[in-house]
Amino acid sequence: MVNGSEVVHGFPHLDTVREAITALYRRLSPDGVLAYGTSVLPADVAFADHDDLHLGAQRVARALVQQLRLPDARMIVSFREMEHAASVELAAGPEYFIELNDRFRKHRRDIGAALAHEIMHVLLHRLDLSFAGTRDNEILTDTATTYLGAGWLLLDAFREDRLSSQKLGYLTPEEFGYVLAKRSEVFGEDPSPWFTSPQAYTAFAKGRAQAQHDRRQPPLTAAGWAGRRRYAKERRHALEHPHAAGKGSPYAFEGGGPDGGLKVSFPCPTCRQRIRLPVRGRVRARCGLCRTVLECDT
Ligand SMILES: [Zn+2]
Ligand SMILES: [Zn+2]
Repeated sequence: MVNGSEVVHGFPHLDTVREAITALYRRLSPDGVLAYGTSVLPADVAFADHDDLHLGAQRVARALVQQLRLPDARMIVSFREMEHAASVELAAGPEYFIELNDRFRKHRRDIGAALAHEIMHVLLHRLDLSFAGTRDNEILTDTATTYLGAGWLLLDAFREDRLSSQKLGYLTPEEFGYVLAKRSEVFGEDPSPWFTSPQAYTAFAKGRAQAQHDRRQPPLTAAGWAGRRRYAKERRHALEHPHAAGKGSPYAFEGGGPDGGLKVSFPCPTCRQRIRLPVRGRVRARCGLCRTVLECDT
């Protein structure tokens, strides 16, 4: 895990974040994801500066191992001077060695965030789930940590004031907010009371708006008037020009022509797997991956 230098904002990694959510559903199955219905709670990972450093780190690590459903894994946490914020040795287990940057000795309240990310590396390693390249694999790790209920800590570690800023992880604060909002939509959970950082709350609100935007795209019936109008126009175009490709749209038309059979494909707003439906008006569809029921007007 890298040390936060300058804080990037917005949604530059959104495509990879979305691929990571799909990959989680594929690897864990919807029931596997549902097993993570409760987030780790603030009380379980609270760490005050007067708590014993090593006992406290072990206690927080145990809470996160439980949250991430790694019953037999044991984390051995140590501190040393290092360039990165934290690292973990991915071995066969059941013991895993996590090293935290010495600066956490004085910033104990962020130890939970750093440990959450490193312990997620262990879970992904055991699941044999990875993305090629460090950048994408770190995005997968942050996304999975957040989707499975421990990543609100990473967002809460984001703080900015006049003199300094700090952030952990690869996702931008808004992207952490996005994944957190995706998670709350599925589990009906509201993480906002857990934030201690006002900037984290703002980023969550921005991410939540982006997540809501996903649910308001045609052909979903929740789409707004302008989106529906654009959709109708593009559908007419696809019927008349069966081989024209949709450009830059969240949805794409396929087939069509004189023999009919026009289909539309679009990403599931929950898991981002693509869904393909025949174009024939109002229909209730079920995502083949996450099983979310979707009201559509194709
Ligand atoms: Zn990492
Ligand atoms: Zn889905």
